[in-house]
Amino acid sequence: MRESWQEHFAESPDVLLGVDGRRTIVQVRDVLVGGDEFVVMAGPCSVESERQLMAAAHHVRRAGARVLRGGAFKPRSSPYSFQGLGLEGLKLLACAREATELAIVTEVMSEDDVSLVAEYADILQIGSRSMENYSLLEAAARSGRPILLKRGMMATIADLLRSAQIILDNGNRNVILCERGIRTFETAIRNTFDAAGIALLKQVTHLPVIADPSHAAGNRDLVPALARIGVAAGADGLLVEVHPDPDKAWSDGEQSLDFAGFDAMMNALEPWMEWRATALRAEKHEPLECAGLGCAEARG
Ligand code: PEP
Ligand code: MN
Repeated sequence: MRESWQEHFAESPDVLLGVDGRRTIVQVRDVLVGGDEFVVMAGPCSVESERQLMAAAHHVRRAGARVLRGGAFKPRSSPYSFQGLGLEGLKLLACAREATELAIVTEVMSEDDVSLVAEYADILQIGSRSMENYSLLEAAARSGRPILLKRGMMATIADLLRSAQIILDNGNRNVILCERGIRTFETAIRNTFDAAGIALLKQVTHLPVIADPSHAAGNRDLVPALARIGVAAGADGLLVEVHPDPDKAWSDGEQSLDFAGFDAMMNALEPWMEWRATALRAEKHEPLECAGLGCAEARG
């Protein structure tokens, strides 16, 4: 007999969707992640300067983002690459929040930095490279801040859910899962975007799931298509890298959208948002409006 999802993910019982179908909605300031709104989190890979961050923050807010992303502590593939501005970066993020009212998501890489980052950030990001750092997960969970948990680049869905379970075990139910691409034998594309993983996570867990098309693609030309696929797979939002001048970015410039590219992506997502709203209403068995006909039809 085929193994059930419940059996497959038995080590993470508290993150699995129950028979009552109740889903977790993570509230971050005035933003609800995992509800009806598709939440776009956008901004530069790294916080570089006040000018860069403010320009990005104002632009992404005008284009519809609800959360500003930006790394102050950066995990880099090379130890000789820019490692982030640290505390100065956190202060700039707080200024950007003050100016735009966007909520802030930023990565914490070390247990020692959890309380400092939690002082400034609205959401703590656990990066791909840290997903299995259980002592970091425990400390981050205990800060009480919502956690954006990125899937490790070599982690299975079961590994991701085990890490989420550890956060719940430490008293924090506000977990947002993030698919950001995994390593496969493909070399033309930085990572392989696991759309089926998003669909599966939405079927088996009650936690919100967002898609990061930027780190999955590694190339800005692919980002809008992966963003659309993320919506179609059932994601609750996106995490996207946007930079005022991507070719001069201190990290991940090749996958960062410029402002025009971000606007074009957001516009291209509009019909997909309409499809999503219809799909959510159908899932909840809410009546569908029949435009212009003055009638309502129940979908079940
Ligand atoms: C990032 O969001 O900039 C980042 C480093 O992501 P990941 O952990 O997915 O590589
Ligand atoms: Mn990045």
